[in-house]
Formats: sequence, structure tokens, C-alpha cells
Amino acid sequence: MSDEKDRFGDKIRDLEKAREDQWAAQRDRELLERLRRKQAELKQAVSAAAETMGALCPRCHHPLVKTEQKGLTILSCPEDGGGWLDQAELKSLLQRLK
Ligand SMILES: [Zn+2]
Repeated sequence: MSDEKDRFGDKIRDLEKAREDQWAAQRDRELLERLRRKQAELKQAVSAAAETMGALCPRCHHPLVKTEQKGLTILSCPEDGGGWLDQAELKSLLQRLK
């Protein structure tokens, strides 16, 4: 009788443990899904902000201003006077120096 009672108790504990594991797994899936959604929202917000602001100066992080000088498009920083060229503009400049 006592042995049967112990086995029944073990089964109940196993069942409770399985339910807890199932609940924890479901909660983990929901948390992961919420994190993925949040991450996607943040990525979208960052790319929207970058698009709105344009390129930022790599030295001082102020927005760069696109200027034309002698046929070259240069991104200039009004804050620290830096200037940047994209690869096509740089190749064009180097070609002129030959
Ligand atoms: Zn700058």
C-alpha cells in the first residue's frame, strides 16, 4: 500500500514538474519573441534616424554637409572642417592627379 502511494506521489511530482517545464518553455518563447520584435523595431528606428540625419562626421559625429568643389562631391563637416569623399570621388580625384 505504502509503495503504491509513493509511486502515485512520484507520478504527481513528475506531472507537476512537466507542467512547470512546459510553462517555463512557453514563457521563454514569448520573451524571445518579444525581444526579437523589440530588436527589429530598434533596427528600423536606427536606420530611419540615419536616413533622416544623413552621414555623420566620424570624428565629432556632427551631420556632414554635401558640397561640390571642382566637380567633386565632398561630404564636409562644418564643425571641425573635415572632408570625406566616397570611393568613386576619390578614384576620380586620383585619376586627375596622374
Ligand atoms: Zn566633424
